[in-house]
Amino acid sequence: MHTLDEYTSKLKPDEIKSSTNIVDTCFKSVLSSSIICGHCKNVSKVNEDCHDLSVPIPSVVSTATLQERVAEFYNREMESYRSHKSEMLNPDKILEQINFDKRDENDENEVTLMHCMWAFTAKEVLSGENGYNCEKCSHLDQEEGKRVLRDATKQLSIQKPAKVLTIHLKRFGHQLYSGKNSLLAHLMQSGGGLRKNSTQVTFPKSLELGSFIHPSSPWKNTMCKYRLFGVVEHQGTMNSGHYISFVKQLQVNKNGEHRRGEWYRISDSHAALSSQLEVLEGSQPYLLMYELVE
Ligand SMILES: [Zn+2]
Repeated sequence: MHTLDEYTSKLKPDEIKSSTNIVDTCFKSVLSSSIICGHCKNVSKVNEDCHDLSVPIPSVVSTATLQERVAEFYNREMESYRSHKSEMLNPDKILEQINFDKRDENDENEVTLMHCMWAFTAKEVLSGENGYNCEKCSHLDQEEGKRVLRDATKQLSIQKPAKVLTIHLKRFGHQLYSGKNSLLAHLMQSGGGLRKNSTQVTFPKSLELGSFIHPSSPWKNTMCKYRLFGVVEHQGTMNSGHYISFVKQLQVNKNGEHRRGEWYRISDSHAALSSQLEVLEGSQPYLLMYELVE
C-alpha cells in the first residue's frame, strides 16, 4: 500500500480526474494488437487495457539454437517491418535488447526476461481455420456459405506503459501452442498437459522496454525504464504450494521524499532482511513488480 500511496501523491490533478480509479492510474497498461492482412495488407489495430503483462516462458535452448532462431526472426520480421514501419516493432531494436540482456554464456539452461518479452511480442501467423476475417477483403464464399478467411500476422506491443508494471510469467497451464507457422510456437515448448513450468528465468534490476513500444505511441522515443521493487515466487507444484515475496522497502525521509531501502523476504507473517543478490539469483519469479523511473 505504501507504493500506492507514493504514486497517488505523485499524480497530477488531471491524471486523477481522467482515471476511473486509482488502481488503473497506477497499474494500467494499454496493449496494442496489430493485425496485417496477408491478402490486402490492410492493418487493423485494437487497443486493450491490462493490469499486467502475461508473458510466456520460451523453452530452454542451446546458444547455437538461440542464434539460429534470432537469425530466422530477423529475416522474417525485417521483411514485414520494412513495409509496415508505422505498425510493427523494429526487430533491430528488439535484438539489441536481447543481446544487451545476453545470458551467461556458460549457462545454456537460462532463459532471460527479455526472451519472454520477445516471445510475448513475436508475430503470430494466423492461417487456415485460425485465419483472419478481414474487414476489407474477406468476402462471402457462396458455395461454402461462410466468409473466406485470410492469412495474417498479429503482433502485440505496448501502447501505454504502466507506472507500476506487473509482469506475470505464465508458469501454470497448458504448454501447448497452436499455429505451426508461428514464430511464437517455434519459440515455445512443445507438448501438452496442465503443469507448472519451473524454468529458471533471470531478470534484471533495471528493465528497459522502449523497443516494445508501438510506433504510434507518445512513449515511442522513451527508454521506458523500470526499476525492480518486488518479486513473488511460487514454491511447490500445480496442486499445492506456497507464495513468498521479496520487497524493496520504501522509506520516506523527513522532507517527505521517497526512496527504496533494503530488500526483505516475506513468507506469511515472517519478514527477514534479504539482499539484491538473493533476489536476483536465488528466487524463481512468478510475478515481477517494476516501477517506472521518471
Ligand atoms: Zn484483407
